[in-house]
Amino acid sequence: MTFLGALPRCGAIARAARQPARRAYDSTRNCAPCAARRFGTTPAVRFLKGTASDSPDGDLELNFAKRRTLDEQPVWPVTSSSTASPFSQEAKKLARSFGFLYDCDGVLHLGDQKIDSAKSALRLCWDHDSRYLFLTNGGGNTTEEQKAASLKKKVGIDGVDDLIGDRVIQSHTPLRKFRTQAKEDQTIYITSLDPERAREIAHSYGFKNVITSTDLLEQYEHIYPFTPKHIFNSKGRALPNGTKLWRGKDAMAYDAAELKSGNYLKIDHVFIFNDPRDWSLETQIIHDILASHQGYLGTLSHKNGDQSLENGGWQQDGQPKVWISNLDLLWKTEHPINRFGTGAFLHAFRGVWKESTGHELLFKYMGKPSRITYEYAHDSLLRANGAADGRAEPLRRVYMIGDNPESDVRGALEFQPEDGTEYVPILVKTGVWRQTEAERQPRWQPAVIVDDVLDAVVWAMRNEGIDVTREAVENM
Ligand SMILES: [Mg+2]
Repeated sequence: MTFLGALPRCGAIARAARQPARRAYDSTRNCAPCAARRFGTTPAVRFLKGTASDSPDGDLELNFAKRRTLDEQPVWPVTSSSTASPFSQEAKKLARSFGFLYDCDGVLHLGDQKIDSAKSALRLCWDHDSRYLFLTNGGGNTTEEQKAASLKKKVGIDGVDDLIGDRVIQSHTPLRKFRTQAKEDQTIYITSLDPERAREIAHSYGFKNVITSTDLLEQYEHIYPFTPKHIFNSKGRALPNGTKLWRGKDAMAYDAAELKSGNYLKIDHVFIFNDPRDWSLETQIIHDILASHQGYLGTLSHKNGDQSLENGGWQQDGQPKVWISNLDLLWKTEHPINRFGTGAFLHAFRGVWKESTGHELLFKYMGKPSRITYEYAHDSLLRANGAADGRAEPLRRVYMIGDNPESDVRGALEFQPEDGTEYVPILVKTGVWRQTEAERQPRWQPAVIVDDVLDAVVWAMRNEGIDVTREAVENM
């Protein structure tokens, strides 16, 4: 284990760790060699001020927790002074007051490869009746139930063992809380590695009108000048509510009153569930949607390029919001070098948009490290293992165990729920982040860096006054 300070006061550890982290960020943010090093170590998602937002803005029925900035120095509660024997009634009582959020890839498994101690770590929580959930930025082509089944296999849990259960939260799961009326009335354009499966997931969240690139290609073959990669062989469906695409020789010569007749396709939201396989096709279509008049595909807004308007008039004409549900630039698989994630598509699209419009892309995001996702997870955790009526039971502290400083550690550091629960990030060495000579500490500093997930749970429990050791768990 690499402790960043002395146990047991993790608040002091984080406070001490946070200040240098901010200086390191400032000194390397525009440095190409540092960015290059991060490729092999810490993934970086750069936000341009004002262009990315994780505010629900009334679209999601969630509270909006305050974001803690790195300038704020939180006073974390003093760690428990009790000493309880592991698995005792006293330990179980203590364990009701804290919970865990587990990242999956790089923490519980590496691609399809097991991480040996993962099962023991989960068992330790289970045996103490600790509340825990799995908070992954994965998703896009699996429902939460499918992801849970896959996780069970990857962790090596067999039979009826319920260590995984229905505890999975994927990057887009918070969309379950999208406004009910919008789910009924509005039209969503969706993309992912498998748009057809993403559509099914959106339907399972209650969205009635969901369209994909395949639907549009079937209606209007000239919307894309090349042969698309129909790698999933999905068949296009009719557009919702009997609508059709607006077609005119001049995309700016539309009849605004006629558009509102209800006969034409109007897209109200764009959801990017995870990285699409056909970047070119999706870049073209999403660009068309964002440049349209109010989301009517086939039109071009008259406000585009009007420098008297905010953002040069781009995305200022009632166009749909773009939601991306995973910002991770990199992730860790069995391969020795980190692989590009959904964030890579976002960066590529932002580059095209900037070149084409001269302005920054305005977009909204969920998934870690967004407040939306942490708020959703927090609410679910309060109700996990709870009374049958779903009553919330308060938590004193939540340990976020992750391998990615940018999403796992950053999200936990910034999240500040209204009920005062403290979020404590723990970074494991089994995944994305790797200590190198050039980068001794991650850009977002956790309370502690440990070898693996079992060390993380043992550290947290000891921090709470439960006298457990790794050796004892391994010898069980
Ligand atoms: Mg991970």
